[in-house]
Amino acid sequence: MNQQEFVTWWNDYAGRFPSTAIWVRNLGEEPAKSLLLTWAEVLADTPLRDALRVNRAMAKGELEPVGSYDSQREKTALCVRRAAARAIADRKHAEVAQARTSEPARPLPANRPNGLPSIAEALAQCQRLVKSGRTWREAVNEVIPVDEHEPPPPYERYKCPYCRDRGIVIVWHHESVRVWRHDPSLIRDKRGHRLTMAVPCSCEEGERHLWLSEDTPPPKNFGGWTTRDVCYTPDRYCAVKSTTDPEDVEKFCQWCEEHFRPHDTGMEHG
Ligand SMILES: [Zn+2]
Repeated sequence: MNQQEFVTWWNDYAGRFPSTAIWVRNLGEEPAKSLLLTWAEVLADTPLRDALRVNRAMAKGELEPVGSYDSQREKTALCVRRAAARAIADRKHAEVAQARTSEPARPLPANRPNGLPSIAEALAQCQRLVKSGRTWREAVNEVIPVDEHEPPPPYERYKCPYCRDRGIVIVWHHESVRVWRHDPSLIRDKRGHRLTMAVPCSCEEGERHLWLSEDTPPPKNFGGWTTRDVCYTPDRYCAVKSTTDPEDVEKFCQWCEEHFRPHDTGMEHG
């Protein structure tokens, strides 16, 4: 505290302990002045706020007040300084303890030096993407971008993750979607309702299966499609690996649930 703050502190103390104020005044002008100057020096390092707290605590009996002998009163500033220092130390100690107990688990480093997310982060991001409809492969490709300078591992050497560069994607048939919308249990219970079809992929390779010329009709032996409206996107179709694997069947049902509600439009086509 500075000189002015010391005056504030002393006024506060004198108000709470008038006998000390009277004792100081009775010392005589010069001795009183020099005692207060000494006290101001003693309290120079003590923040005013903390010194005022000590005054209050002493007055309330939370701290032992300064004794009433002269030799004790002379050390008033010293007592206040020590009590304030103890309180500050206690507070810091409590803050550290509090920070330790409320500290969340040490977070994993956000990024590896090469800019890739940590494994835990990448896993969490992938899980979010998978929940929002991506396959694991797509999610991984999105979260951990392939380094262009490094060839991808052999199993990832496809330009298109949907068709694996074949240009065709096998998807659940409209008819199965229709049946699911009529009654999902029919898809789960009756294999006969699980139908598939092939659609052109929306990638470059898929284009080879499309005849998009407006000027000439496709040749008679053309076995492809004539509109991009049938091209595969994960929203338009549900890709299928197996119609007999219960897990795959369940994936299809989940996809339907995300895109349609059973019974919402009766037997309408999806
Ligand atoms: Zn493709």
